[in-house]
Amino acid sequence: MMNELYQPIETLAGVGEKRAAKYHKLGIHTPYDLLFHFPRTYIDYSKPVYIADAENGIPCAVRCTVVQKLAVAFVRKGFTIYRVLVTDGISDMLLVFYNTPYTYQAMKSGEEYYAYGKITGGFLRREMQSPQVQKVCGAMLLQPVYPQTTGLTSAMMRTNIQRALLYLEKQPVETMPDSLMQDFQLIPLVDALRAVHRPESAKELEAARHRLAFEELLQFQLGTLMLRHRSSGQTAVSMSESVSIQDFYDHLPFSLTSAQQKSIQTICKDLCGSKPMNRLLQGDVGSGKTAVATAAAAFTAKNGMQTVLMAPTEILAQQHLHTMTEFLSPLGIQPVLLTGSTKAKEKREIKKQIADGTAQVVIGTHAVIQKDIDFHTLGLVITDEQHRFGVAQRAALAEKGGCPHKLVMSATPIPRTLALIIYGDLDITLLDEMPKGRLPVQTFAVTGGFRERAYSFIKSHLDAGEQAYLVCAMIEESDTLENVQAAETYAETLKQGAFSDYRVGLLHGKMKPAEKEAVMAAMKAHEIDLLVCTTVVEVGVDVPNATLILIENADRFGLAQLHQLRGRVGRGAVQSYCILVTDSKNEDARERLKIMSRTTNGFAIAEEDLRLRGPGDFFGHAQHGMPPLMQAAFCSNMPLVSETQMAAKQLLASDPELKDPAHQALRTAVLQLFAKNGENGLN
Ligand code: ADP
Ligand code: MG
Repeated sequence: MMNELYQPIETLAGVGEKRAAKYHKLGIHTPYDLLFHFPRTYIDYSKPVYIADAENGIPCAVRCTVVQKLAVAFVRKGFTIYRVLVTDGISDMLLVFYNTPYTYQAMKSGEEYYAYGKITGGFLRREMQSPQVQKVCGAMLLQPVYPQTTGLTSAMMRTNIQRALLYLEKQPVETMPDSLMQDFQLIPLVDALRAVHRPESAKELEAARHRLAFEELLQFQLGTLMLRHRSSGQTAVSMSESVSIQDFYDHLPFSLTSAQQKSIQTICKDLCGSKPMNRLLQGDVGSGKTAVATAAAAFTAKNGMQTVLMAPTEILAQQHLHTMTEFLSPLGIQPVLLTGSTKAKEKREIKKQIADGTAQVVIGTHAVIQKDIDFHTLGLVITDEQHRFGVAQRAALAEKGGCPHKLVMSATPIPRTLALIIYGDLDITLLDEMPKGRLPVQTFAVTGGFRERAYSFIKSHLDAGEQAYLVCAMIEESDTLENVQAAETYAETLKQGAFSDYRVGLLHGKMKPAEKEAVMAAMKAHEIDLLVCTTVVEVGVDVPNATLILIENADRFGLAQLHQLRGRVGRGAVQSYCILVTDSKNEDARERLKIMSRTTNGFAIAEEDLRLRGPGDFFGHAQHGMPPLMQAAFCSNMPLVSETQMAAKQLLASDPELKDPAHQALRTAVLQLFAKNGENGLN
């Protein structure tokens, strides 16, 4: 029998082409995938209160009967109010809906409903604004709320998921081996999925979450342990501790922070060990990771071996070339660049240099890890901005030529509990100190009404010889046509208008790599005063003379991304500013912007991001390429982490590659998890 669970998502009733496309964006292609799209939270209808007892402004559930639907009030064009008078048997209140007729239309006089929302209003007539409403008969007492996605409401998802659950009940699936189910008292997958999407009680939900979190963590740990296992048997190309990089220090234009010095020592010690290094260098934006990486490359070169540094974008690769050349050329080391847009002839020449060892430091984009590049003696692989690389790329790296040492640099601070899970295959070094003399970026959230004043403020800084970014993006992803057009139009308007006396540049994701490079080079050379851009500047771009960043539609971005964007300024000794422009009334958005104004510490921001967006979104947006550890992170449950680690070790001890038929489903899931974002998985 055909299993409906694995058919395209469009086969679900109510899912058309448009909605399917939205699901695809979330990585959901089948009803089965959809079942693993977990709620962010639940609305609790299980403890309704009396209207008279409800506290003003605090969300609550009320069980009530419709007394009367009041006449629709057309206030003005585009503003319509729908009101329903309800009673809980003791007192009454109005449910008020703005511009949304659906719930109003569906409600019937004399019927009983649950309404959830904030009650406001005084003694005479209380009101609940824009409430969530469901019929008492057949109500979900714990109603799932799914992570926010444009165009996909929780209500739509609930309906689609109910349907997928029916398929699952027809043809149950189990991924966990019996032995584990028993040893760790886990409930069957079918029950867990049903309960997480349609919990009957808090207790049931708890058991479901436990099972799903256990599974997620287990799969993840199995994957990372398998990676670690593969490299543990290997011996590294070892380097010599007696090699000195004093001349590297001597030629640096600044003195290193003690955190940088310590990291370099740790790394060099690893490089001299007999096991391949697997280290994550985690440092907030601007903490100076490049200098640390360059020191490691210098040490490697002096040991007669090659270093490759991979960056997520061409702009960054170009920038690393620039910086590393500055730091390394006094030592007689000339880094080379290899990217997707390197010309064929040049590419051949560079490949030759890589193969014969004359190229000691190779910088590039993903193109450099492609299989056809042969290194002479590859000693060190550095990956910059790890959050753009998924576990799949980590797996690919583990396979790379010979047995090089690996250093991964991440600018996205990750809460500790999660770091332990995610980077189970890596040792972690924190770069927890900023270079001296840095002033925290002053951040302001303003409404569009302040734009003109913001422009004047920017101009006064441009007049003082500083530079600015103006980020204009409709949505979070940088390369969409929408964003490109918005940026183009904005740049044109500014050139004609407010900034006609200044040099205005434009940078967006749809430009050719060479064009982008030229723009960034012009920005660095101060041939541009104001750079209008989409979020392509987000990662790593370093122009210390830029002291101002204005972000339009700031409400549309997550904290991690705002933090990254803000990190483009405050990189020199001059006071920098970040202006967040928004007209949004959305509370979550306002809260995010408040947090941004309050703190510049990336780790604090990451914790807040996790709290506000929920782990699903946290990983989905901030950690491109990271598997969505949703249930697990939801629990943030450390005992569970060690429990699953134990289980993973136990399993692998008897069956290191999970070849046992009883482990087949688990193996498939692990491989899938580690292959999701790239062609080179954990095969
Ligand atoms: P990130 O950690 O975000 O990658 P970078 O490596 O780009 O940061 O460094 C940010 C800026 O700080 C660069 O301009 C770099 O040259 C400078 N820098 C790095 N280390 C120091 C230091 N110890 N003292 C002063 N400036 C430094
Ligand atoms: Mg960087």
